[in-house]
Amino acid sequence: MRPLAILGGTFDPVHHGHLRAAWEAAEALDAEVRLVPARTPPHRPPPVADAAGRVALLRAALAGQNRLTLDTRELDRDGPSYTVDTLASLRADIGPDRPLVLLVGADAFAGLASWHLWQDLFTFAHVGVLTRPGGGSHEPTGPLANFVAGRRAERVRGPAGAVVHIAITPLDIAATAIRESFAAGGEPRFLLPTACFEDEALLAPYRALGQPS
Ligand code: ATP
Repeated sequence: MRPLAILGGTFDPVHHGHLRAAWEAAEALDAEVRLVPARTPPHRPPPVADAAGRVALLRAALAGQNRLTLDTRELDRDGPSYTVDTLASLRADIGPDRPLVLLVGADAFAGLASWHLWQDLFTFAHVGVLTRPGGGSHEPTGPLANFVAGRRAERVRGPAGAVVHIAITPLDIAATAIRESFAAGGEPRFLLPTACFEDEALLAPYRALGQPS
């Protein structure tokens, strides 16, 4: 059964770092990967682009292929976007047997024990840790280290519960730097898909950062 993997984030805006990581995970796991934009990310300032704007950019970025898809379920839900709720909802959709993989960066994985109901994540899904070679050590410590000991696996087998490392090509691209470039009046081409620049309206919220208010 082909795994389903998800990569959550604010995607404010989506960029080639996200897309390449998702693509490499899709190839490594032979999975469908869904990008899941967050509506109200806990512990973060509100995104520059509203949900509709971020979705429009994602649609433009994903056009022309069907291995990476978009899942807007967090945008349809009220309140904060807890990953555990998203996984429960996906599990209900796909049934008990299909492997489900939560993709997280190695840095995020090291902080997993601060996530809402973090141990329950493993009842719904495997965790795929996106590991950037040379990206420094993000070894889990404390309760997380104990919890994941014995769960590490070479490949995804069964519906949920394991930790799998997925080596990805490091691309030093961050949405923060893209927003900063727009705020400085720049044009950060080739950090995000060309398609995102083709419709003027898509990047307008970011360009507005560079305009006097
Ligand atoms: P910001 O700069 O606004 O914090 P970001 O570029 O890190 O944003 P997010 O939307 O927070 O993007 O990221 C969503 C997911 O994509 C996270 O799991 C994050 O680790 C991963 N990710 C972001 N940038 C990269 C990258 N360059 N390479 C690999 N994974 C990335």
